[in-house]
Amino acid sequence: MGSKPSHKPENDRARGYSLGGHEFEAPPLPPGLILVATPIGNLRDITLRALQILASADLVACEDTRVTRRLFDHYGLSTPLIAYHDHNAETVRPKILVRLADGAAVALVSDAGTPLISDPGYRLVREAIAAGVAVTAAPGASSALMALTVAGLPTDRFFFEGFLPVKAAARRARIAELARIPASLVFFESGPRLAETLSDLAAGLGAREAAVARELTKLHEEVRRGDLSFLAAEYAGGAETRGEMVIVVAPPQTEQVSAADIDALLARALSRTSVKEAVSEVASATGAPRRAVYSRALELAKTGKHGAPDRT
Ligand code: SAM
Repeated sequence: MGSKPSHKPENDRARGYSLGGHEFEAPPLPPGLILVATPIGNLRDITLRALQILASADLVACEDTRVTRRLFDHYGLSTPLIAYHDHNAETVRPKILVRLADGAAVALVSDAGTPLISDPGYRLVREAIAAGVAVTAAPGASSALMALTVAGLPTDRFFFEGFLPVKAAARRARIAELARIPASLVFFESGPRLAETLSDLAAGLGAREAAVARELTKLHEEVRRGDLSFLAAEYAGGAETRGEMVIVVAPPQTEQVSAADIDALLARALSRTSVKEAVSEVASATGAPRRAVYSRALELAKTGKHGAPDRT
């Protein structure tokens, strides 16, 4: 009976981490590539699983060893680090793939947050998959998702754009392409460009609600909410732009639909489905408030104008 070869640590360093002055041993890892999310500011936003993986991996690939070393020092981690970033990826990626092919467990982290999200790692993941390496992730902090959740804007559909082009003409052209996407939009931006980007967004997307989420999870965390022109004026007028920020913009307003249009859509939907489903369909197709569509549907169902039995 064959048994899977157990993964042998490549050296005998302690595979543990420290937490609140206590030392913990980490369980061994199977071979493969693990994408590990790290905090976006507050070091306590690391998961226990991330600590175990970072402690047990044979190698941790990171963007900037100085940045990751701070996290390592904080948690008493001593796993070897290798820098993997846009400027050395072509030479370092094959080396990482060789280690993976040899059966190593390699963790990939970025400076902050979730690797691959406007951060390196996509090609490494592709090539690891192509080479038959097991690829998994230890999820955690993500500035895009945190900003979306605190923005107070619709979260049912969102489009992650990341960084807009730096050059004004290309940025405006891209914003024009995004204008019709029926979803909240999520952008990464840097402080020096924030006011200009908000002003371009106001010009290209119109009067939409938006939020700027700055320094998330950090001491000076701040979320400013308002319509795009208001926010553009605030930041042009001296509001604090230091640190890191995410912009979230509400979806476009759905065109005003007349009561007659809603009645017609409802009648059609009610002739083939339940009131509940008809309301859901018509409210999402028209953007009309669900409660209003529901009371209209009840009236139509009561008067029998839709010509079908009520199947609520
Ligand atoms: N992969 C990272 C993540 O999952 O959060 C994002 C990396 S991207 C190179 C860096 C951008 O993320 C920053 O310019 C900013 O837009 C956003 N960001 C990162 N940390 C943030 C924070 N604490 N508060 C607000 N935005 C942040």
